[in-house]
Amino acid sequence: MTQALSSYIPALTVAASIFFICTLRGLSMAATSSKGNLCGMIGMVIAIACPFLQRIFLSSQNDISWQILVPLTVMGVGGIIGLCIVKKIGMAALPQLVAAFHSLVGLAAVFIACAVFSAPDVFGIVGSHLDNIPTSNAVEMSIGAAIGAITFTGSVVAFGKLQGFISGKPLRYRGQYIVNLFIAIVIAVAIVMFVINQEAWIFCTVVLLSLIIGYLLIMPIGGADMPVIVSMLNSYSGWTAAGIGFTLENNLLIIVGALVGTSGAILSNIMCKGMNRSLISIVLGGLSRGSEQAVSSNSGERKNVKVCSAEDAAFIISNASSVVVVPGYGMAVAQAQHAIKELADILKGDGTTVKYAIHPVAGRMPGHMNVLLAESNIPYDDVFELDDINHEFGATDVVIVVGANDITNPSAKTDSTSPIYGMPVLDVEKAQTVLFVKRSIGSGYAGIDNPLFYRENTMMILGDAKKVVENILKAMKG
Ligand code: NDP
Repeated sequence: MTQALSSYIPALTVAASIFFICTLRGLSMAATSSKGNLCGMIGMVIAIACPFLQRIFLSSQNDISWQILVPLTVMGVGGIIGLCIVKKIGMAALPQLVAAFHSLVGLAAVFIACAVFSAPDVFGIVGSHLDNIPTSNAVEMSIGAAIGAITFTGSVVAFGKLQGFISGKPLRYRGQYIVNLFIAIVIAVAIVMFVINQEAWIFCTVVLLSLIIGYLLIMPIGGADMPVIVSMLNSYSGWTAAGIGFTLENNLLIIVGALVGTSGAILSNIMCKGMNRSLISIVLGGLSRGSEQAVSSNSGERKNVKVCSAEDAAFIISNASSVVVVPGYGMAVAQAQHAIKELADILKGDGTTVKYAIHPVAGRMPGHMNVLLAESNIPYDDVFELDDINHEFGATDVVIVVGANDITNPSAKTDSTSPIYGMPVLDVEKAQTVLFVKRSIGSGYAGIDNPLFYRENTMMILGDAKKVVENILKAMKG
């Protein structure tokens, strides 16, 4: 009976895989993202249930209790820790949280490879000789361990840089690429030697060198490129999971790993396009024009900015017939999205057209702004991507830039020495009036001056975005 029930496991595996594919599909659009999340949760429940069911169906009665209880306890503790972390973490800290979680995937891969190497028979891996691991398993295991180790140290460094534990400055030295290439070649040779000889010291060398190269690859990467690296590490963690899947002969892990691996790579590519960077140059580290060369355009000369009050801003906005809101990282920091929504509702009630313009790299992770706007129930139909709205700024009365900076900086179009040169930006300067809501005239993430602040048609309202928008609202209501 139990043997017959175990034949349903492959069907459950297919079902979970379909749910995961639906997750990716759902998450590709803001309107369907909650459904996507739900599919992910269902897929995960099935994925977690499968190995337990397999144990129950296939194990002898005596084995069942500890084989079920131990993992359930560990998962319970892990789940509680995860819940506590997620409750404490704000939106702005998500990239480093993701990096920290990726490091655990990498570490898990290394541990599993070590466990399989030391006791292959426990995992059902038996070669022609008793002390021998089949060649295919040895290849998967060593490559999986290497990618896992690179993911682990790389993610730890990425976490440290994003959290400020490690300096965001790129660590570069002469001959860096030659050293990295040399280590990579030694790892490849060691993997081949391990597959042939299967000796413990060679396996340890593969793991150790991979840990070192993971560190060396991420240290030269500057702060501005770090979110792309986090996305790349996401992709690596997927491939690592797929590698473990091959070792453990777990189809679901292979499928999910491949999905995470490819979607992470595609996401990194999208981010690079949005920032006009080359993915290869970022991954190799240090080859990119990083923000570390920035602050170049701060000439030090005194320039005039027009600072206005909330009452002035309320007057200008109330008289506009078309308004475009450009949200940026500062809106996330200030959590100003709800106040923005209230402002937009009042304007719409008065017959003003209100739209939102989203830059692909606004904020600190892809989709950052879409999530915040969705959180405050801003209709998806009012939200436009850069390509769909850029031509409309010329016909817009007022653009309200809320905590955004680099994504509006016109020097990306004109100044070839600028670190953001070539990055597509929102052409907000074409509007009749641009209202900048930020705390100072300081620079954004790339660390460069924004010439827009000194334009004739620009007005600055200085202060925390949430408080400023609430003051504008008060003035409008008054
Ligand atoms: P920026 O970092 O360029 O600018 C944000 C602005 O918000 C700052 O100038 C800051 O100015 C202001 N700010 C901060 N806190 C507040 C607050 N509480 N209230 C009001 N204003 C505030 O952000 P953008 O969104 O314009 O651009 C994103 C940047 O991140 C780009 O350089 C992009 O390349 C980079 N990036 C983004 C990635 C992504 O996936 N989204 C990935 C990689 C990089 P002040 O201190 O004066 O208030």
